[in-house]
Amino acid sequence: MTVGYLFDLDKTLVTYEPEVPGIFRNACAEVGVEPTPEAVDTLAPSYVETFLEFEESPYVGAARAARDAGMDIDPESFADTYVDAEIEATHVPEGVGDLLASLDRVGVVTNGYGPVQRRKLAEKGLDAHIDALVCADDVEAFKPDDAPFDAITDAVPADDYVMVGDNVNYDIQPAAERGYRTVFVGDAADAEGLADHRVSNPSDLAKMPTLMRP
Ligand SMILES: [Mg+2]
Repeated sequence: MTVGYLFDLDKTLVTYEPEVPGIFRNACAEVGVEPTPEAVDTLAPSYVETFLEFEESPYVGAARAARDAGMDIDPESFADTYVDAEIEATHVPEGVGDLLASLDRVGVVTNGYGPVQRRKLAEKGLDAHIDALVCADDVEAFKPDDAPFDAITDAVPADDYVMVGDNVNYDIQPAAERGYRTVFVGDAADAEGLADHRVSNPSDLAKMPTLMRP
């Protein structure tokens, strides 16, 4: 029997230091602009609002909203600077590359933006260990919808699947409903009883082959 291993990306296969607020501050420092509180407040909602249209980079949409909220920036070039800062902040925990290399069928299914997620995997050296990647804009849908899961399982055929992720609603619950085994990454108590296995940190994923033993 073949088993496909499906992974979320952000905060599952990679971690961030700093996280979003620090990445934004670093990008602002890079272009020499002071962030306004109004701009900070609009970032997340405008990113989501732009992404849901599937027409342009959500990073550009967020930067445009930040400009409209008083920051003296060019949205396109600020988005590039922000993405550079995000890649800079992206870290692959010890053992994750070796784990992926040890598995035969590996898919990554992420609610992130394709061009950025692809660059992240390539620059962090993980792309060679991954058989397929599905991002939200590839299928114009977000987990927990079926479309991203259908696309990744089409791309990584297997008899059975294990889903590994840090979000109960987007990763664990939909995978469990599809009959997959699940590994939750994190400490949230709300994963109790939902996930088959749990690790506290992405760095603990290196133990996953042991966790997966029947
Ligand atoms: Mg995640």
